[in-house]
Amino acid sequence: MGNGQGKRVVVIGAGIVGASLAYHLAAKGANVTLVEAEGIASGVTGSSFAWINTLPPESDPIAQLRGAAVEAYRRLETQLPGLKIRWTGALSYGVISSGALPASGIQSSTNVVSRSQILDLEPNLKNPPQSALYAAEEGALDAVAATHALIAGAEALGAKVLTQTRVLGFVTQSVKVLGVDTTMGIIDADIVVLAAGTGITKLTDMLEVSLPIEASPAIFIRYKSQPNLVHTLISSPEMEVRQSPDGTLLAAEDYLDDAMENRPAAIALRTAKSIQNELHGVVSIDPEWACVGLRPMPADGIPIIGYLPKVGGVYVCAMHPGVTLAAIVGRLASEEIIDAKASSALYPCRPDRFFQAGWPEG
Ligand SMILES: Cc1cc2nc3c(=O)[nH]c(=O)nc-3n(C[C@H](O)[C@H](O)[C@H](O)COP(=O)(O)OP(=O)(O)OC[C@H]3O[C@@H](n4cnc5c(N)ncnc54)[C@H](O)[C@@H]3O)c2cc1C
Repeated sequence: MGNGQGKRVVVIGAGIVGASLAYHLAAKGANVTLVEAEGIASGVTGSSFAWINTLPPESDPIAQLRGAAVEAYRRLETQLPGLKIRWTGALSYGVISSGALPASGIQSSTNVVSRSQILDLEPNLKNPPQSALYAAEEGALDAVAATHALIAGAEALGAKVLTQTRVLGFVTQSVKVLGVDTTMGIIDADIVVLAAGTGITKLTDMLEVSLPIEASPAIFIRYKSQPNLVHTLISSPEMEVRQSPDGTLLAAEDYLDDAMENRPAAIALRTAKSIQNELHGVVSIDPEWACVGLRPMPADGIPIIGYLPKVGGVYVCAMHPGVTLAAIVGRLASEEIIDAKASSALYPCRPDRFFQAGWPEG
């Protein structure tokens, strides 16, 4: 137990980010209330491919955060028996050059592997490339189950969880937030954490602090298929897939537009054909579910994490890739909120950057 006893923290949003914050804050002894407008993981977390993807694009300002993501999940696994992560490793090719290997100084098990090594890892690949990046330490999780596990952990530490409870506004005095106004009444708070995904902008607008977060669509597909087709996680221009032991194949695809031929069901059929073109032995691949998920995407692509400027008592957590970062951000943000211990890994993520001269819309 930490030194947060008595600090009343309201976390808005029970996706994987809010769930991790609630757990880490409760573990530090804070008096946590998690408020969710609908059900647990009913936002984009419910349609996430959920790859713990540590490989940064070139010159990634959050490379340090990504680099700490795996260790943060490994630590959570020891604390939460319900948290199940499949550490299968991930193979990437075609989309990422070997120049995207993590910068020196960042611990990583990512290597360039040869064609024969690729076939050892994925014997069903019909068209293996000459080389690929293999991140042996990476994995993926069921984002809905993980969110439930984090919330169960938070509740065991005394957190209160209110679902079907929407935050409608804030209770403020001068320029300090003193609580939230919800469909179930007012909840007093010393600190309010905004982890409401694409709902964050509506909330910050109420505080007259505008944050540039877009709702960025992507397509999530689940197929029923036979087991043992895919062993790692494969990310290539043709497909981004992984498989559960029961044979469920999961895929993520880019959103194109709203035309009939690009709706999720049509993309699911096209992607099934690509998977059959890429893998030997696909006997059946039946789409079970396909949908568009809206990712909270800051305008400059960098997470927005930290205290909101211009108003006291509000801490924001808006990010993509939110599943990858949920564990490490939950830990570091709870240290900032409860222990006032600023994290250098979070410096590139501060909300203030949008309010400084130089930001296009600032
Ligand atoms: C197809 C697809 C593939 C993806 N793949 C990956 C991946 O491989 N790796 C990765 O790291 N990320 C991936 N992502 C992104 C990842 O899913 C998100 O970054 C992450 O789930 C965001 O979680 P969140 O908790 O911030 O948001 P959400 O899950 O949207 O949670 C926000 C919650 O806040 C609630 N809320 C909103 N407004 C209010 C209000 N006023 N009052 C109360 N509650 C409110 C909502 O109901 C919602 O439940 C993918 C996304 C998609 C769509």
